[in-house]
Amino acid sequence: MQSFPEMPSHQALIGGAWVATRSTLDVEAPSHGKTIARIARCQEEEIDQAVSAAGHAFSGRLDEWSRWTARRRSEWLLAFATAIEDDHERLAALECADTGKPMTQARGDISACARYFRFYGGAADKLHGETIPFENDFAVMTLREPYGVCGQIIPWNYPAQIFGRCVAAALAAGNTVVLKPAEDACLSVLRLAELAVEHGLPAGALNVVPGLGREAGAALSAHPSIDHLSFTGSPETGTLVAQAAAVHHVPVTMELGGKSPQILFADADLEAALPFVVRGIIQNAGQTCSAGSRLLVQREVADELLGRLAARFEALRCDVGEADADCGPLINARQKAKLEARLAAAHADGIRTLARGQLAAGAPAGGHFAVPQLLVDIPAGHEVLREELFGPVLAVQVFDDEAEALALANGTDFGLCAGIWTRDGGRQLRLAKGVRSGQVFVNNYGAAGGIELPFGGVGRSGHGREKGFEGLRSYTRIKTVAIHHG
Ligand code: NAD
Repeated sequence: MQSFPEMPSHQALIGGAWVATRSTLDVEAPSHGKTIARIARCQEEEIDQAVSAAGHAFSGRLDEWSRWTARRRSEWLLAFATAIEDDHERLAALECADTGKPMTQARGDISACARYFRFYGGAADKLHGETIPFENDFAVMTLREPYGVCGQIIPWNYPAQIFGRCVAAALAAGNTVVLKPAEDACLSVLRLAELAVEHGLPAGALNVVPGLGREAGAALSAHPSIDHLSFTGSPETGTLVAQAAAVHHVPVTMELGGKSPQILFADADLEAALPFVVRGIIQNAGQTCSAGSRLLVQREVADELLGRLAARFEALRCDVGEADADCGPLINARQKAKLEARLAAAHADGIRTLARGQLAAGAPAGGHFAVPQLLVDIPAGHEVLREELFGPVLAVQVFDDEAEALALANGTDFGLCAGIWTRDGGRQLRLAKGVRSGQVFVNNYGAAGGIELPFGGVGRSGHGREKGFEGLRSYTRIKTVAIHHG
């Protein structure tokens, strides 16, 4: 069995105390399939307690947090960023064991988490309303206020990063938080919560309630005392969460899936593009909402590009997270079976795997590995072009001109990211405007994860924005004050 640090992994953080639940859930390491920890299984009762604690911390009995000035919140968040950096290797080891992602990627995720706290710590005391010119005998202003209790439901693919994105922004704006991490991976989140308590975050400002989606997640999204909900996960679950929130008219931010294209024109710098095309789909074994899971390539360079891409795919190796190979395992057996079924159906429909990576010699049999694959000869409108596979599988389409490229790029209900590779400045702008997505990257993909850049989707990829200053604003609401001074 894997060794990793001792921690209260079986408990929930409610009102500043670690609370045991009646039953627990086993956490399995994707690299080995073995149980490595037990976590709390919060149900309606614990969710109720956590929401109540967050309510008291906001403006009730335990209201220390709501009495903190913006400057004090800023100082705490900045100090917490340093605490995360000081605990970097331990957090990265947890993230690697729990998600199966390669250690280099886990380290990058922890650094990003710390950067969120640094960014929002720096921004906490720079958030303000406006004055509005109106009639002469009026003074009108807007106050930018926190919502109150923010419910946050996050997935297993980037637990620490998404914790940083949601929690840092919500706390910076003065809210309190009840966070439901994913049952499949939340050990880094629990460690981060432990660090927050150690570093003096007032009781109830942050509550962490692990548990099953259909129990803890459903109870949180339906809770009448939540003031704002942010959900990151699949579009299907997003619909359930939005429906539950609508009953009490709770505003929601939805960060859902994607089927993002990378569009490569014949005039592009192919050498520069290739690593981004590969990384865009193998990062976190393709289990990334913003994965570049479609490659659209112009016919003139298709043969050359696919030849070079195939060579790169064949050189890719899958291994346990700790081995820091190109690709780790998928999160669990269910995701692996789902991917395999979709690939079998695709092959039955005549789609061809042009190249595939390999499992490293010695990779354990119990790991949920799926080797990277390059799919070609895909009939128009096929499922592999429309639906998230959530694995390291890149679907290739060939186009003739810009109009066709745009039509193919916009040929899904998703709209999260797009990569455009061309040296033609006019085309860069035309496509950036024409592509239906929340983010467009020109001659790069992902902008190195830039936490400063607003992020979110259109259509089935969701609505609302997180990250950057926009993300901070989204955890506030505007109150208008009109003073008649005669
Ligand atoms: P999921 O929707 O199954 O789970 C996400 C979270 O919702 C988990 O915490 C889960 O416990 C909870 N949940 C499940 N059922 C629930 C219910 N009935 N009510 C309330 N909560 C419930 O998604 P997943 O499989 O964990 O994650 C993969 C999906 O998330 C992919 O579609 C991916 O693209 C998307 N994702 C999006 C982003 C983004 O920022 N846009 C980031 C990461 C993942």
